[in-house]
Formats: sequence, C-alpha cells, structure tokens
Amino acid sequence: CIILGIETSCDDTGAAVVDETGQVLGEALHSQHKVHLLHGGIIPPIANRLHEEHIVEVVESALASSGVSLADVDAIATTVKPGLPLSLCVGKNYGKKLALDAGKPFIPIHHMEAHALTIRMVEKVEFPFLVLLISGGHALLVLAKSLDEWKIIGQTIDDAPGEAFDKAARRLKLRNIPECSSMSGGQAVEYLSREGDPRAFDYPTPMWKYRDCSFSFSGLKHTLYKNIEKLEVEYAIEGGRVLPNIRDVCASYQYALTKHIVRQTQKAMIYISTRELLPEENYSLVVSGGVACNQYIKTALRVLCHKMGYTLFCPPPKLCTDNGIMIAWNGIERWKAKTGVLYSKKDIEAVDIQGKSPIGEDLTD
Ligand code: ATP
Ligand code: FE
Repeated sequence: CIILGIETSCDDTGAAVVDETGQVLGEALHSQHKVHLLHGGIIPPIANRLHEEHIVEVVESALASSGVSLADVDAIATTVKPGLPLSLCVGKNYGKKLALDAGKPFIPIHHMEAHALTIRMVEKVEFPFLVLLISGGHALLVLAKSLDEWKIIGQTIDDAPGEAFDKAARRLKLRNIPECSSMSGGQAVEYLSREGDPRAFDYPTPMWKYRDCSFSFSGLKHTLYKNIEKLEVEYAIEGGRVLPNIRDVCASYQYALTKHIVRQTQKAMIYISTRELLPEENYSLVVSGGVACNQYIKTALRVLCHKMGYTLFCPPPKLCTDNGIMIAWNGIERWKAKTGVLYSKKDIEAVDIQGKSPIGEDLTD
C-alpha cells in the first residue's frame, strides 16, 4: 500500500508518500522556523497563514517527487491532534478535501503517536515497548502496548524540554551568534555546549526526591534566568551582546536537563520491572521528538539503557523533528492493522481537530 501523509500541527508544513515497506517515495517540508525566530516565538495566526500559503505546493511537491499520482495512493493520513488549533485546521481541511475529492480513505493521526512509531519505519521494534517523547510541546514516558493502547507513566507538570531549550536560547540571545543564527534553540545550546564545562554552574535537577516519573522543566529555566541576570551584571552585558562564558552556561544547563530526563526515565524502568509491565525481551527504549536529536542526551540515555538491560532506539535526527514522513508511516501502520481508517464520506466529514489530546490513559493515576 501507499499512503500520503500531511503534517501541520505546529510550525512545519510537511507531506510525504511512503509505502508499506517503509520506503519514502517522496517528501517535502516547509519550515516556518526563521519567521517565528524574528517574533521570538510562534504566533498562531502567522503560523496559520504560512501553512495556508504552502500546503498545496508542499503536498504537490511530495507527490511529484514520489512519481506517484493521487489516484495511486491508497489513503490520506493527516495530523488532527494535538497541536496548535489554527495550524492543525489547515492540514485537516486540506487532507479531508483531498480524500473526499479523490474518493480515498482518510486516516486521522495523533502527532505524538506518529513521533513514537517513526522508529518502526527504520528498525524492527515490536510492541510492547517503552517510549520517551521529548519535544517542543511534550515530555512523556509511555508504554506502547499496541496501536490503540498507550499508557502514560510520566509526563511534564509544566514546560516541555524543547521549550526549556528554546526559552534558554532566546534569553541567552544565541541568535546573535552567527553560527547559531538559523539553528533551533536546542541545536544552538547543544552546539555551544560542546566546548563548555557542564560542571561550571550547578543547576539543581528537579523532582529527584519524588518516586513518580513526572517531569518539570520550569524551575530549571527560572534558575537559569536568575543565573544569567547575575552574570550579566557581573560582566556588564548590555544590548545584543552575549555572555563571555556562554558555552559553560549552555553546557551546565544541558547537563541539568539531561540528568533530569535520564533520572525520570530510570524511574519508569524501575516502575516497569517491579510491576512486570514489560517482558524482559521487550526491554526497548524508543526516544523520539525534536529533543531526541540531541547527541548528549542520547549518549546519557545509552548509558542508562546499558545499565538497566534496555536497548536504545532513536530515529535519525531528520525523523525526530516534525515531518510528513512520520504521518504517512503512522497511516501505513494503521492501514496494515486495519484500525482507525475512515472510508465513508460521513465519517470523514465528521473529523475535527483537537488542540489537546493525551496519547493514552495515565497508568499512575
Ligand atoms: P510536539 O511534538 O510536542 O507537538 P513540536 O512538534 O513543536 O512539539 P518537535 O518538532 O518534535 O516539536 O521538536 C522541536 C523541538 O526540538 C524544539 O523545541 C527544538 O529546540 C528541539 N530540538 C531540536 N534539535 C535539538 C537538539 N539538538 N537538542 C535539543 N533540542 C532540540
Ligand atoms: Fe512534534
């Protein structure tokens, strides 16, 4: 089978054509990143307008590069939840219209499920498995039992890790450093951290006293802000200048974020083993979402996995951030499992977006 996938949940307009073997036949992506950098964050109506302006060319270019016509596609998969409502609407409306006009089935996709399943396009990972989703809007530890059964073991009580990286980058004015000017916040912090000392500043890791596997990133961010204020006074920093010890600040912050992510993941692994939630042959940790591009975090997770008897799986960076490929692949998974595929005009017309939508029920409640 061949599926066309469409993604517009945040600030990337993506489309791709993927077959059942996981081969990407064609793809296209339009990122709004640079525009939003100028505004210091995503402005939903602007994101909506840019999706509207690019959706047609992105889908057409994905189809053209695949050499497959819409008539040859088996179904259209589109992200409908969770995300920015104004952004989701563009993909949802266009995907539905294409499906209805061409008389094709429509597969509504959950954006976080797509992040979690991407790995199965490139590597053999069987259900059930443990997933750590770290992205611009989420921090989630989830037990993936099947396509329709996701159990949340831990989630953030405030900010997401990608947000923690992006806000730090903004406050540190990393955009004013030429090499970092077009990078995402996370990329810029990781890049500068390479030559910084992670022990230069002590940013305490949150939540470690608690037994649960929740995440919290806003306290760390505030500690960082306070530290920056102090350093700016100390070095008499004004205007667009950056701190002279910026690499040490980034490295220490990244170290604290990493330590928190690793610790909570370890707690999830302990929770799983004491409750025997996974058979030992399924001790697989899948890490995905934009923050999973981070090499430093991945290395720390690899050490944890080694210690806990898990195997680490992580998609290549290009597939960790938002793209149309993961949506098409999620469509393939649902098509093959015959679940969540809508055939009738009435069912397709009834599909709506959901800005907020948990991936599953909370196991720890
Ligand atoms: P969500 O998936 O929760 O809806 P999103 O789709 O906006 O959020 P993604 O595209 O999955 O998020 O990821 C984007 C985030 O990943 C940004 O916050 C960015 O800073 C972060 N990121 C990208 N590369 C890195 C990196 N190398 N290190 C850390 N963070 C990174
Ligand atoms: Fe995402």
